[in-house]
Formats: sequence, structure tokens, C-alpha cells
Amino acid sequence: MADRSYLRWPFLDDAHRTFAEELDAWAAASVGGLEQPGEDDLDAHCRDLVARLADGGWLAPVVAEPIDVRSLCLARETFGYHHALADFAFAMQGLGSGAISLFGSAELRDRYLPGVADGALIAAFALSEPEAGSDVAQIALTATPDGDGFVLDGTKTWISNGGLADFYTVFARTGEGPGARGLSAFVVDADTPGLRVAERIPVLAPHPLARLEFAGCRVPASQVVGSPGEGFKVAMATLDVFRSTVGAAALGFARRALDEALGRVTARELFGAPMAELPLVQAKLAEMALGVDASALLVYRAAWTKDVAGGRVTREAAMAKLHATETAQRVIDDAVQLCGGLGVTAAHTASRLYREVRALRIYEGASEVQQLVIAREVLRQ
Ligand SMILES: Cc1cc2nc3c(=O)[nH]c(=O)nc-3n(C[C@H](O)[C@H](O)[C@H](O)COP(=O)(O)OP(=O)(O)OC[C@H]3O[C@@H](n4cnc5c(N)ncnc54)[C@H](O)[C@@H]3O)c2cc1C
Repeated sequence: MADRSYLRWPFLDDAHRTFAEELDAWAAASVGGLEQPGEDDLDAHCRDLVARLADGGWLAPVVAEPIDVRSLCLARETFGYHHALADFAFAMQGLGSGAISLFGSAELRDRYLPGVADGALIAAFALSEPEAGSDVAQIALTATPDGDGFVLDGTKTWISNGGLADFYTVFARTGEGPGARGLSAFVVDADTPGLRVAERIPVLAPHPLARLEFAGCRVPASQVVGSPGEGFKVAMATLDVFRSTVGAAALGFARRALDEALGRVTARELFGAPMAELPLVQAKLAEMALGVDASALLVYRAAWTKDVAGGRVTREAAMAKLHATETAQRVIDDAVQLCGGLGVTAAHTASRLYREVRALRIYEGASEVQQLVIAREVLRQ
């Protein structure tokens, strides 16, 4: 990464600085040069990434007690810079196991978290449904009490690591109250009878995604995360930790795009001089750099607030995610533009980033949802 000055900011400690430098060197050497997989070798590629991250010891932060959001953000930013699927593999180990870390019983924590950290278990987070994406209160998948357990019936969709995961954190309707007040969280092993991967969903950039069907899928009561009826709280608290990290991944993509653009405009001659001397090019570079720094400030502000001040960081995390993902899209688009025809060739880094960044403005709360959240927080104050 060209600009490392943000590592000196007061949001970070020396341990974070060392972590970021070591991870950057490791990621450049170990995942930075990997080819993008196609749909056929996507699962094998993602499994290999989880194994590499585990072998390097880099999955430890996703199950740390307590979770250190600044480490998660530094890791996602760094992986995002070097290889988006490495970021994805890292992020899903965290998001998929986050509810267990935050609310799980000792039994659940012992059973799942060591495997998440050593790469033996791949995790997934199953909240969305065909009619419940932005509006989580519409969750229809039911969990019906049955003896000493629950029986799950319904559909989850857009589930990252669907088909690849060893276990899913599933949010289901248990009916203690209406809407969001009647949900519970469960850990469901992928090989539980009644759970099947109904469809794999190819998307804009390589990303293992699936629709899951639950039909008479029985899970023991010991697989409930938190208390029955607390599912919405469990989901929101998990997202409260991980939402800023989506901004961090976007920040890594944007930094990479800026570096690619800088490389191109200083090497390319236009009208008898390096492109970088053209005022309009400089204006674009200035906007890109400003956007990157503003995103970094918001991301590390949110992470610091969660780690140091504690409590919920709904406003800070929503601002970090909204700004960093929207800005990354613009920065990457500018990088494509500055690279000219080269920028739209399929194998070029700028065009790869262009495809990879798009989903970040939608998942874990679309940009419009973040706007609503921020407005609600502002009005409440
Ligand atoms: C690549 C990818 C990976 C994903 N991984 C997971 C996963 O691992 N687990 C999981 O549970 N889900 C996952 N999702 C699902 C994701 O969280 C949902 O797609 C997202 O919450 C939006 O839900 P939806 O697709 O149903 O869109 P809808 O809820 O139908 O919303 C459509 C659009 O409406 C707009 N909108 C929403 N609310 C408002 C509003 N209040 N005002 C104005 N406009 C609004 C937004 O632009 C939004 O994109 C993933 C999605 C993608 C694309």
C-alpha cells in the first residue's frame, strides 16, 4: 500500500500498527498474486484461502475475546487491497461465528470457535430471505418447538458460503412477539437432515452464494444462540460489530484503485507529458485521495468507538459503511476512467475492483438503510 500514514492515527495502538504491517507483507506474498477463480473452482479457492489464513494465524482476531474491531478493520482493509476473496474468507469466518462469540453458551463457543480459528470449520450467517432482506422483521422461516429442540422450515437466500459452510447461524421466527420481537438465532450444522442447498447463485464477481431450504430440519435447544426471542438483538449486535468492517474492505478496494491509478497516470504520456501533469487528472486524484482518507477516518472512528468507548455504535458504523462503500465505488470508477481502455479490460485490476465493490453497497444493510439508520440516530439526539 502506498500511503501508510493512517497507521499513525491515534485510533490505533502500536500492536495494531505491527499487526497491519505484518499482515500486509504476508498478504502481498501469500494471496496477492492468486488468480481469480471461475464458478467451477470457486469453492476450492475459498477453502484454500481459509486454510492459508488459518495457517498464517490470521483468523485469530475473528474469535478474539473480546473482539477487537480495529484489528478486524485492519485485516479487511489489507485483504481487500490484495485479494477480495481473501477478505471475503476472513469476513465470513467472523460474521458467521460472531453471534456465537457475542451470545453463545460455553458449549457452543467450545464446539465452534476453535474450528473457526484453525480453519477446520467454515462459517456462514443466514439472515436474509426472499421477502426479508432490508426488512428483517419479515422473516418467515419458522422454528417450531418440538420436544427438547426446534424444527426449522422455510427458505434463506443470498447466503454467503452457502454450500461451502460447515455451519450456519440461522435467524428464525419463534413467535415470542410480533415482527422483529419474535425471532431466535440457531447454529445449524450443514449436514443436519432437512437442510439443503437448493440453488447456487452466480453474481457479478466471484462469491459463493446460495439459497437454502429447510424442511423439517430438527436442531436441539442447545443450538439456540442467546435466549429464544432475542434473535433480532443477536443479529443487530453482530452487525454492529461487522458493519464497520464492510467499510474497511471497501477502503482497501479504494486504496488499491488509487494506487493503480497513480501508477498509470505517472507512467502514461498524454499530449507530450505524463498524464499526472494534466489539471483535470490531478483534480480526480485529489477527490480520490480525499474520499479514501475520509472513509478511513470514519471506519477507524467507528472501530475505535466500539473497542474503547464500548456499547452500541449504530450511528458510527452506519456512517462508516455508507461513506466508505459509496466512496469506493466512485474512486474505483475514477481509476477505471484514468486507465482508459486498459481499465475496462477484463483482467485489469481496476475492472476487477469495479465488479467486486458493487455488492458492498447492498449487503449488511443497503446504503438507503444506512441513511435511515443515521437519520433515526440524528433525530433521536
Ligand atoms: C453478494 C451478497 C452477499 C450476501 N451475503 C449474505 C449473507 O451472507 N447472509 C445474509 O443473510 N444475507 C446476505 N446477503 C443479502 C443482503 O443482505 C440483502 O441482499 C440486502 O439486505 C438487501 O435485501 P434485498 O436483496 O432483499 O433487497 P430489498 O430489501 O428488496 O431492497 C432493494 C433495494 O431497495 C432499497 N431500499 C431498501 N430499503 C429502503 C428504504 N427504506 N428506503 C429506500 N430504499 C430502500 C435499497 O437500494 C435496496 O438495495 C448478501 C447479498 C449479496 C448481494
